[in-house]
Amino acid sequence: MWDQDGRRYLDGSSGAMVCNIGHSNKNVLTAMRRQMEKSTFGYRLHFETEASEQLASKLVGLMPDGLNRVFFVSGGSEAVETAIKLARQHAVSTGQNSRWKVISRRPSYHGCSLGALAVTGYDPLTAPFMPMMQDMPKVPAPRAYLDGLNPDDPATGAHYANMLEAQIQAEGPNSVLAFLVEPVGGASTGALVPPNGYMERIREICDHYGILLIMDEVMTGVGRTGAFLGSDHWDARPDIVVMSKGLGAGYIPLGAVIAGDALVAPILETGGFAHGFTYAGNPLACATGLAVLHEIEMQGLCANAAAMGDTLLARLKSLMQKYELIGDVRGKGLLTAFEFMADRDTKAPLPPHLNAHQRFVDLAYARGLIVYSRRTRGGTEGDHILVCPPLIANTQHIDEIMHGLDASMAQFSQDIHA
Ligand code: PLP
Repeated sequence: MWDQDGRRYLDGSSGAMVCNIGHSNKNVLTAMRRQMEKSTFGYRLHFETEASEQLASKLVGLMPDGLNRVFFVSGGSEAVETAIKLARQHAVSTGQNSRWKVISRRPSYHGCSLGALAVTGYDPLTAPFMPMMQDMPKVPAPRAYLDGLNPDDPATGAHYANMLEAQIQAEGPNSVLAFLVEPVGGASTGALVPPNGYMERIREICDHYGILLIMDEVMTGVGRTGAFLGSDHWDARPDIVVMSKGLGAGYIPLGAVIAGDALVAPILETGGFAHGFTYAGNPLACATGLAVLHEIEMQGLCANAAAMGDTLLARLKSLMQKYELIGDVRGKGLLTAFEFMADRDTKAPLPPHLNAHQRFVDLAYARGLIVYSRRTRGGTEGDHILVCPPLIANTQHIDEIMHGLDASMAQFSQDIHA
């Protein structure tokens, strides 16, 4: 990217983990132009469009078996709202009116509209709006690295997943509608990869209590973690998939919610889904999404994200050896992060007043590298830096990113210790 003064930047965060196929992809721009010349709007209650039908078919082919119904939206928060309402209407239309609570995790981020915020566990974004219209129960995100547990040990996965079971029992199992989870954590936890056995066990628990498992794949979807869906890495089939960012890939606002016939049929039989946005299934957005998926497939970008992700993770681990202030490195595919700590043994964060994450972003920016940062411990303290280049990244890009990170870390360490 170049700014108005001609300064060059490498986008090491794909914007906000959005631009999965990079900027200015010619094929996508051509497809958009073609669609613009055909039609840019058709209201979904009047017409289904060719573009939305084609994108829906394409997406269904990329989903786990049985997830064959698609509802389009224009962003991640809309997608999360839609998934919750879909789950709720399914419960009502199957006589399970008592089920309305959606359990999620803390920290987590699921969007900024009020429903999505009620299932978000991230204080700086939720506190100003408390009391929430209806705050929802949260269970701890499985941050084994902070609790001194071995993420490779299946007992660790079971330990965190069983917290979900305890929460379900505390709430009353018949009041719980769904569990909402990011397969690999995004902005709130900084690329948190679940410990061994966690995903399989939460699937088991949801099955046991008749609770729907909603995967928030807004950030992890469309190849980001080295598979089309983040949840594809585990044997934990979602009941509802929520996608957005990488689907429009920064070319257009677009999202999708995907579920199966078994979930949707009772809703259709009882009058249909009482929900819908004016721009849902917009033909220009859908034609763009279709062109994006074509690029993902033709360029083999899921496989590239897996390979480049391994390289990037290994190099971030070397960076951790060099700089004491990096306390943890984690991630999957090209969703990677490192976290600052004042002390690796105690896991103590840097003092919040240092505003370490923003300082680091500024240092990288001054060196022509864009990265993304957030507070990592529920939003109030701790600092992580997300390194998530577009999935078209090659080894030269990784070299350039590492060069920028190394130079920024050298300055950052000096500044923090000054
Ligand atoms: N869910 C997750 C996991 C996200 O990362 C985000 C955005 O960062 C959202 C939902 C909300 O998406 P949007 O900003 O498009 O509304």
